Parts: sequence; C-alpha cells; structure tokens
Amino acid sequence: MSGKEKRCPICKAKAPVADYRPFCSKRCADVDLSRWLGGAYAIPSAEPPDEFEIMEAVEAARKESQQTDD
Ligand SMILES: [Zn+2]
Repeated sequence: MSGKEKRCPICKAKAPVADYRPFCSKRCADVDLSRWLGGAYAIPSAEPPDEFEIMEAVEAARKESQQTDD
C-alpha cells in the first residue's frame, strides 16, 4: 500500500468526506454497513460494485432492518 491519498473503499472515489471517513458519503457508509449486516452480499473483490448494486444492497439491508415480529 502506498500513497497518502485516501479513497472510498466502496466506490473508490477520491477524497472521502471527513464526516463519513473512510467513505465518501453516507451512501457508501450504508453500503458497508449493509455488508456487515447482510453478510450474504458478496462481490468479486476485483470489481467495485456499480451504483445499481450499491442501491440494491442498501435497500435489502433496509428491508431487513424494517422487518418486525408483527
Ligand atoms: Zn464512496
């Protein structure tokens, strides 16, 4: 690993916003969280997810967290 430039680990965007470090935005932070929560969301490490996959992962995590005993 070299370079002091920080990049978002989710979308590889440059210069993550300090508020969401190490992510560039809340969305990417959500994606990372959804990965932790949803474990099943596995992507090839060689390729970053595209925006669609990110949204799907976030939605899936959201739905899961909304499930109640009802
Ligand atoms: Zn990002």
